[in-house]
Amino acid sequence: MRNTLTSTHCPYCALQCGMNLTPAADGRSVEVSERADFPVNRGALCGKGRTSPAVLSSAVRLTSPLVRSAAGTLEPASWEEALDRIAEGIGGARAEHGADAVGVFGGGGLTNEKAYSLGKFARVVLGTSQIDYNGRFCMSSAAAAGGRAFGLDRGLPFPLEDIPRTGCVILVGSNPAETMPPALRYFTELKENGGTLIVVDPRRTRTAEQADLHLAPRPGTDLALALGLLHLVVAEGRTDEEYIRERTTGWEDTRAAAMAHWPEYVERITGVSVPQLRKAVRLFCEPENAMVLTARGPEQQAKGTDTVSAWINLALATGRPGRPLSGYGCLTGQGNGQGGREHGQKADQLPGYRKLTDPAARAHVAQVWGVGPDSLPGPGRSAYELLDALGTDIRALLLMGSNPVVSAPRAAHIEERIRSLDFLAVCDVVLSETAELADVVLPVTQWAEETGTTTNLEGRVLLRRRAIPPPPGVRSDLEVLHGLAARLGGEGSPEKRFPTDPEEVFEELRRASEGGPADYSGITYRRLVEENGVFWPCPDQRETAEETVHPGTPRLFLDRFATEDGRARFVPVSHRAVAEEPDEEYPVLLTTGRVVAQYQSGAQTRRVEELNSAAPGPFVELHPRLAQRIGAAEGEPVAVVSRRGRAVAPARITTSIRADTVFMPFHWAGEGRANTLTNPALDPTSRMPEFKACAVRLEAVRP
Ligand code: SF4
Repeated sequence: MRNTLTSTHCPYCALQCGMNLTPAADGRSVEVSERADFPVNRGALCGKGRTSPAVLSSAVRLTSPLVRSAAGTLEPASWEEALDRIAEGIGGARAEHGADAVGVFGGGGLTNEKAYSLGKFARVVLGTSQIDYNGRFCMSSAAAAGGRAFGLDRGLPFPLEDIPRTGCVILVGSNPAETMPPALRYFTELKENGGTLIVVDPRRTRTAEQADLHLAPRPGTDLALALGLLHLVVAEGRTDEEYIRERTTGWEDTRAAAMAHWPEYVERITGVSVPQLRKAVRLFCEPENAMVLTARGPEQQAKGTDTVSAWINLALATGRPGRPLSGYGCLTGQGNGQGGREHGQKADQLPGYRKLTDPAARAHVAQVWGVGPDSLPGPGRSAYELLDALGTDIRALLLMGSNPVVSAPRAAHIEERIRSLDFLAVCDVVLSETAELADVVLPVTQWAEETGTTTNLEGRVLLRRRAIPPPPGVRSDLEVLHGLAARLGGEGSPEKRFPTDPEEVFEELRRASEGGPADYSGITYRRLVEENGVFWPCPDQRETAEETVHPGTPRLFLDRFATEDGRARFVPVSHRAVAEEPDEEYPVLLTTGRVVAQYQSGAQTRRVEELNSAAPGPFVELHPRLAQRIGAAEGEPVAVVSRRGRAVAPARITTSIRADTVFMPFHWAGEGRANTLTNPALDPTSRMPEFKACAVRLEAVRP
């Protein structure tokens, strides 16, 4: 095995950087080396990718199932005992309270095969509608807005390589310098080629420092900002009338909504000056090509879907989407944030991005699964609503690849709900804060120890390949579902219905997705290796083996949008305030986000020494004026208090943030847990919580 090079992809974010792995001498870990043939990162990796082998080490990982003893402690157990215990816990809840008393919670890091199998397991074996996943917290607002404008949601409808060749990019609420550093080069090259970069962010981030223009609105006001820009586009006669006429519907209502948002009014709401608004419009409208890219900033709001729609409207009014080197796109966050929501672990979806409420979709998928369409449950609760119902009508939970004790909004309440469950089973690679609360913890394989596909932020389906065997005592998530299917019943043999070979699962996923919006039916593992990834939709168009395969679709919408009439739809939206405006008691806005050396809830990266020394803990970023007002000093503890709780972390005083706003990264548990404070107010369409803005007060903590 030694010196056998495996070309694969990083376990972390949605860029899914290519990397080569060589098994280390002990055969238990791998060495990472540059993989220049993968076009997305061309060999570059950030610190998280470079150090990813550290989490393979048995020193930080679970290698035996754990079962809670009568004394209340988690004790090592055999796989048979652990699976029996889960079947007993879940089966008992189902028998006593009905199928919907069992919840299933997945993750945006799961491979397509796992996400697909988990959705199928919930609906076919458990018969529960109560399944959702943490990707709901990540980009469901952009998915909803993209769906209603274009008839289809794929993060980027064009490859990243188009970015340097456009004329201007407005990057809204995204900080790739910290979240996906190898992607920053696309924006650097854009500028080298003469293009301009406009960054919209309340903080002067490392990405904003590179911008030609940085607009720093108050958190939660970027909907108004987009409307103000659209107002100026109309007022200055910069709309693309021919494009609006030929390729869109609904312009008049959207135009009227924008005209009600005068630049001076928008300046008052956002804090962005009228000259800055005018400059942004000029930079965006003058080039022949331009793009709007959004990320968590506009999405993680109680009005996230409308906020993204406002940015899409700006792109449509200027004739950008569906044209070469132009358009609107969303930068996904989690490793398989895109694919994870396409294949059935979302509460309202079936594989192939089909709708669970669509009778034809139900019939197609039910036929692939060998069950009757009527046996499939309907849509269930969204992620936060599901977690909020734990211990009430949901009595047992199976959780895979997520750590909501750290990552959910109003986390102390969610932790309490989890503790009130009759039964909790968690599959993870490490003992996360959520796994610590479980009745049974199953140690599962990860990234370099298993094969499976992911779909990156460009809609490029990729094959992650196994480089080393898992440690003894560890099984894959697919094996877990297989074992539970055998115990929890249902018709047919689990060997056939829940295969453990990822390629076999993918072959079934292909059939289940066939004809759906996210059609993977023309993609095979072999093609993924030979072609370095394939963009969906990729239908299987061959009648015979000799016929030409579909090449995949790197660029969407060039001829028509995926709506019934082929036209993009303007959606009129109006400004509204954040769910929790500052007041006398809570006078400051808190916004949350990430730092370069940690990933999501930190379950993996907090266990990597190099990353931990670079980013050892949470902090409260605040402006010197605010620091002076509360008497805070650099590095000294500051308490941040919201209506939901209190968090304490050292002050980081900087002029790069607005004086009415504080920032906390959300990767840590304990007293510095940012999500203790966040507001679970949900977007009415996407059901995404408002992580990006809540009212807080600050107190300096005296030793
Ligand atoms: Fe991994 Fe993302 Fe870093 Fe690339 S940018 S190495 S995918 S964490």
